[in-house]
Amino acid sequence: MIDVHCHLNFKTFADDYDVVIKRALAKGVTRIINVGTSLESSEWAVKLAGQYDELYAIVGIHPHHADKVQHDWIGKLEKIASQPKVIAIGEIGMDFYEYKSNGIVDPKRQEEVFVEQIKLAHKLNLPLQIHNRHAGEKVIEILLSHKSHLLNPPGMFHCFAATKEVLKSALQMGFAIGFDGNVTYSGLARGETVSLPDLAREVPLDRIVTETDSPYLTPLPYRGSRNEPSYVIITAEFIAKLRGISFEEFEAQTDKNTHAIFPKLR
Ligand SMILES: [Zn+2]
Ligand SMILES: [Zn+2]
Repeated sequence: MIDVHCHLNFKTFADDYDVVIKRALAKGVTRIINVGTSLESSEWAVKLAGQYDELYAIVGIHPHHADKVQHDWIGKLEKIASQPKVIAIGEIGMDFYEYKSNGIVDPKRQEEVFVEQIKLAHKLNLPLQIHNRHAGEKVIEILLSHKSHLLNPPGMFHCFAATKEVLKSALQMGFAIGFDGNVTYSGLARGETVSLPDLAREVPLDRIVTETDSPYLTPLPYRGSRNEPSYVIITAEFIAKLRGISFEEFEAQTDKNTHAIFPKLR
């Protein structure tokens, strides 16, 4: 079982990441992929990957931080992304969710930062890990207009939530689709029109991957506490059941899918 997207590189894990990693490995998680959202957290993800065989890094600037990048950020990111255990550029994309802290970052700025990173990924021959929140149509539009910069396969959408049309377009372009612990919550998240179980049923089995987005989106019954990579198993069990297949079959298939998306993953 692989957690394709988490943030052990965030402050909340600074004191006990080693315990958290060992707990996940003991439960049967074989690879943990930490994802950057800024230059600093990207560097920290690479540092962690250097400390454990089972850890890898994805580096990039999250759209929510697109207004904070400074002079030559892309040059600095290129340097970080050129490390051997960096397997993709992410999490990058568009985010139109109104955050309490700083609202919505200027969409034009978000798009510029997204496109710069699509081009960097192409230059470095790395797939993409896409973040989309309430911006599915825009993300698809941008990806389609930069089709020549996409690899085959192009990467994955992480923490998927969108309409079935957006899902269809993402699949058509060859992207895989990641689901998190929030697939276990009942009802619709604010601003969404399709339930996550409905979407998770729709994705072809050879395109689905599992993640935690730790420390966020803790699956039931642990919702309310800090999420961690060992809980990726709970999400996988939930989706396997939803699709009427065994956990073992689902695990084998999602591991295979993950390696297909990220050729640098060993
Ligand atoms: Zn995200
Ligand atoms: Zn994330």
